Amino acid sequence: MNKKSFDLEELASLCKRRGFIFQSSELYGGINGFWDYGPLGVELKKNIKDAWWRDTVQRRDDVVGLDASIIMHPRIWEASGHLEGFSDPMVDCKTCKGRFRADQLESSTCPQKPSKNVLSCGGELTEARQFNLMFKTFVGPVQDDSSVAYLRPETAQGIFAQFDNVLSVSRQKVPFGIAQIGKAFRNEINPRNYTFRSREFEQMELEFFVPPGDDEEWHRYWVAERLKWYTTIGLAPEHLDQYVYPQEELAHYASACVDIMYQFPFGLQELEGIAARGNFDLSRHSEYSGKKLEYFDQATNTRYIPHVVEPSAGVDRIALAVLCEAYAVEWIPKEGTAGEIQPAQPGESVPAGYEERTVLRFTPRVAPIKAAVFPLLKNRPELVEAAQKLYRQLQSSWPVFYDQTGAIGRRYRRQDEAGTPFGLTVDFQTLEDQTVTWRDRDDMRQERVPVAEVADRLATALA
Ligand code: ATP
Repeated sequence: MNKKSFDLEELASLCKRRGFIFQSSELYGGINGFWDYGPLGVELKKNIKDAWWRDTVQRRDDVVGLDASIIMHPRIWEASGHLEGFSDPMVDCKTCKGRFRADQLESSTCPQKPSKNVLSCGGELTEARQFNLMFKTFVGPVQDDSSVAYLRPETAQGIFAQFDNVLSVSRQKVPFGIAQIGKAFRNEINPRNYTFRSREFEQMELEFFVPPGDDEEWHRYWVAERLKWYTTIGLAPEHLDQYVYPQEELAHYASACVDIMYQFPFGLQELEGIAARGNFDLSRHSEYSGKKLEYFDQATNTRYIPHVVEPSAGVDRIALAVLCEAYAVEWIPKEGTAGEIQPAQPGESVPAGYEERTVLRFTPRVAPIKAAVFPLLKNRPELVEAAQKLYRQLQSSWPVFYDQTGAIGRRYRRQDEAGTPFGLTVDFQTLEDQTVTWRDRDDMRQERVPVAEVADRLATALA
């Protein structure tokens, strides 16, 4: 597998500089495990969520959507098993007072001796004890045991709790699915790897209900579908992998589970889990609520509790994978010099006739800005006017950017860093023959395109 090897710090610094991701509450020194998405980051995340929603809900006849509340009746978390069992083992270090996940000691650095891990730094560790990851709060003005509520640690339970309502209004028949995108919260012991493990994040979850016995077939179907989907948002197949859970690692109610993994700079890590969960969730909610959650199958005249296949993905992890995949530092031939684009060699100086560029090679579908429009010179009103006209026309359909400051090469470079796939330059020839220079971010090739054809070409490139 071709490992994407670069320092995550470099990417984090680009993300801050260009407004993709900021540390939450940075003004006050930050808060560990929380992140804010800036002007470009919010567009990137939105494009990922829109792509998922289009492909999982809109373009299918057998999936409908839901937007459930974040705080729900606390009994939901009793029924789901989260109150009792959603915990990680935690140890404290008596020497440095650090807190660590007991199952990640080898990969946890000592806060006092950053060159050592927590097992080899010589600190004295306590016995492991279970720590529940749900954030607790109170509903209403009285803070006692009866008003305790939890921020949801996953979006899935909202779907199970509304199964009956959705079934009765949507005229769906099993097999069918309910999909949801929304925030989830986990009080992770050690948030780390940039946004990969955060305490507040977004999930995109599908609960796909199937007749008992069809679990295996549907599980296979969803694993294949979901793997394919990642390539449509620009992740290279050679950077994707699957982890198939052996029987002994499965939850007692699950019959299969596969994680979709991505080769991050910090290793092969999970983007999404796809589990065949049997009828565990609906049975438990039925038991705890006292209401029947069954499906009547008219074709076979039978009544049953549907089984479920759950593809569960994290938006922030996918956004980070998309950023890692897109990130490249390259040596490019200087204006007017012949030569090929080459990957920069760390530690070596830029060859003669070349300059270095940082580029985010997003697939156009997820790129935050789709095209940038430039007048060649800002002090020529006829160029500015023609460029603004094109900009306004495109802006009614897509996020596009207008920039008239600085040398044109510098403006291209700025858009390369933002990951904008196309640059459109209005120059003197435009005034004569109504064509613009269309510049491709990836191969930097330039060609003349009639202004009247720009919108159609862009639509084709973004489809
Ligand atoms: P992990 O083993 O990495 O803690 P998990 O198996 O507990 O993850 P799930 O409960 O299956 O994760 O959640 C589904 C998805 O939600 C994950 O594949 C991931 O993309 C995302 N997710 C889970 N926890 C976090 C987190 N702390 N920060 C960001 N995303 C997360």
